Amino acid sequence: MFATEKKEFWFVVGSQHLYGEEALAEVKANAQAMTDSLNESGVLPYPLVLQDLAVTADKITSMMKEVNYRDEVAGVMTWMHTFSPAKMWIRGTKLLQKPLLHLATQYNESIPWATIDMDFMNLNQSAHGDREYGFINARLNKQNKVVVGYWERPEVKQQIADWMDVAVAYNESFNIKVARFGDNMRNVAVTEGDKVEAQIQFGWTVDYFGIGDLVQYVNAVTEEEINDLFAEYETLYEFDYGTYSREDWEKSVKVQASYEIAIQKFLDDGGYTAFTSNFEDLYGMKQLPGLAVQRLMAKGYGFAGEGDWKTAALDRLLKVMSHNQSTGFMEDYTYELAAGQESILQSHMLEVDPSLASNQPKIIVSPLGIGDREDPARLVFDGKAGDGVVVSMADFGTHYKLLINEVTAFEPTVAAPNLPVARVLWEVKPNFQDGVKAWIENGGGHHTVVSLNLTTDQIVAYAKLVNLDYVVIK
Ligand code: MN
Repeated sequence: MFATEKKEFWFVVGSQHLYGEEALAEVKANAQAMTDSLNESGVLPYPLVLQDLAVTADKITSMMKEVNYRDEVAGVMTWMHTFSPAKMWIRGTKLLQKPLLHLATQYNESIPWATIDMDFMNLNQSAHGDREYGFINARLNKQNKVVVGYWERPEVKQQIADWMDVAVAYNESFNIKVARFGDNMRNVAVTEGDKVEAQIQFGWTVDYFGIGDLVQYVNAVTEEEINDLFAEYETLYEFDYGTYSREDWEKSVKVQASYEIAIQKFLDDGGYTAFTSNFEDLYGMKQLPGLAVQRLMAKGYGFAGEGDWKTAALDRLLKVMSHNQSTGFMEDYTYELAAGQESILQSHMLEVDPSLASNQPKIIVSPLGIGDREDPARLVFDGKAGDGVVVSMADFGTHYKLLINEVTAFEPTVAAPNLPVARVLWEVKPNFQDGVKAWIENGGGHHTVVSLNLTTDQIVAYAKLVNLDYVVIK
């Protein structure tokens, strides 16, 4: 599903021939030791692969062209062990179409005052080399990440790891294909958008299908497939029959099981990794997909309701970036305004992502006031606690705009026995009044993607890579 397991990053170490072959051999040995240490640390989510030393313009150009060509290479990390004249880097850096991280570090942690001589200084002049190399990246407007610090430090390794996740998501952005089952909801403004611009800027393919195309897949699902999946539900979730007979309850849940099988088959057949539905467009469907959508979210497919393809694609993007941990589609619903407790109840009419669950979800069946269909089954749970980011994407006519608000989610302490949907609660930064005001003034939507596993820096790094206007509220 994620197709990211085989990704790797190339490590390109800059130097030049000026210092002689002996010095270059030491540069290479140090680079190998650093590569091994970073790979063995267990912090990096993807392997670093050390390349030949970057000592001529031709070498650098051919390496960067190779990076572009190879799908398994998600980006390049560079390090200036010595001074590496930056005119050598211009052609290759301009050609590079994948994320670039400049690690501003030095092999030795401290200056060895007792023994330092000119040979040592020529070999270990990262401070010198960083500035020459950084200048050309800035002048080329490369939007590269710069990580500064001693390479053995945990916080440096963590920053590299976080960037790797952004880089893999950036690469995956060009593979995101959204299947829209039906159009977006009538009259709603924020779910509109320029699909051609989204494909140009973010690489997203957004395709429409009549709901009848999906109904054909639903009709082809067999009883055996449904019973097998229902048995899986039994091992994973609590069954809550509520006021329904066991028979009616099972019937309803099995409709959702048939939707899960059908939608997944449809998506996989077409290479789609995200989708939308719309309760206004369900001709031939008995229920609005609820449990089915939640299960597919848990598997890593992006989703948003009411035909909101922008948020569905963003959901997929952030699921890849977060390894599908605590990340999902969300909707702002209801304020808690009591003094000192100000927060926002987040949910959706059915489709809340189980990757955010703090407890074992239970399957319930309940009527849905809108959509005029049979009572749909859904997973109900409470959201987990943690610091994170909530992100929305809006089309402002002349450009897309990304809003990022830092939030602190917390587990609810009071039961809500009549609420038939999953609930997530959070406080917004910097405080309720200023955070909500800034969100509304900037035109942030009610459909969002929340992640308790990503940071503002990571979202901003992606925005810079795709030249996307962004606002951070924190
Ligand atoms: Mn909605």
